[in-house]
Amino acid sequence: YAAKTRQCGSLIYHPQLDAGSQESLSLLSELRRAVENDELRLYLQPKVDLHQGRVVGAEALVRWQHPTRGLVPPMQFIPFAEQTGFIRMLSAWVLAGAAKFSREAMDAGLSLRLSVNLSTRDLMDQDLPAKIEALITPLQVPPASLCLEITESAIMDDPERALSTLEHLHAMGFKLSIDDFGTGYSSLAYLKRLPVDELKIDKSFVMAMERDLDDARIVRSTIELAHNLGLSVVAEGLETLKAWVILGKLGCDQGQGYYICKPMPQDQFIAWASSWQPPDPEAATAESMMA
Ligand code: C2E
Ligand code: MG
Ligand code: MG
Ligand code: MG
Repeated sequence: YAAKTRQCGSLIYHPQLDAGSQESLSLLSELRRAVENDELRLYLQPKVDLHQGRVVGAEALVRWQHPTRGLVPPMQFIPFAEQTGFIRMLSAWVLAGAAKFSREAMDAGLSLRLSVNLSTRDLMDQDLPAKIEALITPLQVPPASLCLEITESAIMDDPERALSTLEHLHAMGFKLSIDDFGTGYSSLAYLKRLPVDELKIDKSFVMAMERDLDDARIVRSTIELAHNLGLSVVAEGLETLKAWVILGKLGCDQGQGYYICKPMPQDQFIAWASSWQPPDPEAATAESMMA
């Protein structure tokens, strides 16, 4: 696997990368340089209300515009950033960008909630709530305009400490979401105690639900579970009109996926949102039955 990906010249991070190795040290210094030289890019992917068809938010997804390797996807440097602790710097950069964009959207008359992904190490940082507050206060962005996405695994690394940070964030008014729900190892006992507002059904279930009955059942049960716990539920990986129709019928609150739009550079988002037209519900149902 490593040999194959190396050949195509785009490999930055791979699991075999040793923490102390030369390769790893040079990647770390490259990442530091990336921040200094303004090589990180904030991409946004819309989140749409499935009942009304309105754009209600966007997820901030980072990319690295590398001088020689081109646009590098997050999975090629986020795991490494997590291992080395660089992730805190990266998260601060993304949070600052999301707060700034949130201000721009408000000024353009759009009411959007910006979702930002956090990692274990962010949750272990007891100053995180104060740091985020310091970013939004001067911009007059309300805490509820930001949603922080955390995976089950990030929480389960040190559940008590994560819970304390999450409670603090929740008390300050930030929205909280469990990302990739169904793929981690959280227990329902923890889920019940977590002050979260939203569950995001992992895209693997959503993308498979049209052909696999078990995946369809998982999607349906997760929507019910979320609603029974008073949480809103988002389907990620919404790739087809048929998925849009099915999820709407199942009562899923929001969708995010390539059918709606792929992540785009942040400066394209406001124009995209103003031209977005949801599928007409009746036509969509008829069309999706024929597909
Ligand atoms: P995630 O948070 O679960 O984000 C959703 C990922 O699914 C994004 O990939 C998005 O482009 C992709 N996606 C959305 N809709 C569809 C679809 O319909 N079909 C398919 N095939 N994929 C879809 P992306 O941008 O490559 O990010 C991958 C992961 O990298 C994210 O998963 C998240 O875990 C991590 N990540 C991205 N940006 C950040 C960041 O700023 N901070 C942290 N800590 N992690 C990040
Ligand atoms: Mg996410
Ligand atoms: Mg996800
Ligand atoms: Mg993920």
